[in-house]
Amino acid sequence: MARYIGPVCRLCRREGQKLYLKGERCFSPKCAVDRRPYAPGQHGQNRKKLSEYGLQLREKQKAKRIYGVLETQFANYFEEADRIPGITGENLLRLLELRLDNVIYRLGYGRSRTEARQVVRHNHVLVNGKRVNIPSYQVKVGDVIEIKEDSKSMQRFKDIVETTASRLVPEWLEADKDNLSGKIVSVPNRDQIDVEIQETLIVELYSK
Ligand code: SF4
Repeated sequence: MARYIGPVCRLCRREGQKLYLKGERCFSPKCAVDRRPYAPGQHGQNRKKLSEYGLQLREKQKAKRIYGVLETQFANYFEEADRIPGITGENLLRLLELRLDNVIYRLGYGRSRTEARQVVRHNHVLVNGKRVNIPSYQVKVGDVIEIKEDSKSMQRFKDIVETTASRLVPEWLEADKDNLSGKIVSVPNRDQIDVEIQETLIVELYSK
């Protein structure tokens, strides 16, 4: 399962905004976007105004990077979003939000989506009582997600829950932090997805 393994702060600097890819560090003065608020590379400080295509492309790159999805998989999500009824851009974000790794992150059982992905990959997660180790697994309304019984006592999860304690769990999820579990209450509406993405630009890009 392919994933980006290069320096992640560089991705935020390229997009000119925080993408929150590193957990705690993103909220500290060490954040690279705060320290060097310009694009990486030799010409990073002479940024030109972007064309319409450039804006659309950057928006797609941003969405891919936030959710940790590579090009082909992202294109597949778009195809699926276009096929199902409703507003394509919103469908796209909904499909990304309903990935199991994102749900683990939203419930606060991963400090970043990268860590949540690792939690899933390392067999710590049960969906409706069955082990699922596929980060892209699509959860459904009513699904019960929990950290496996013998993983619950690990220091790692104590640290994670302590770090994410102040993070708000979105309304479409129900979290039981004492039992390291949660439930999908509903599919998220656009206003319940707090990512700074203009999904209409992505739709325009794929509609060319
Ligand atoms: Fe992005 Fe977080 Fe790195 Fe800041 S610390 S640049 S928000 S990944």
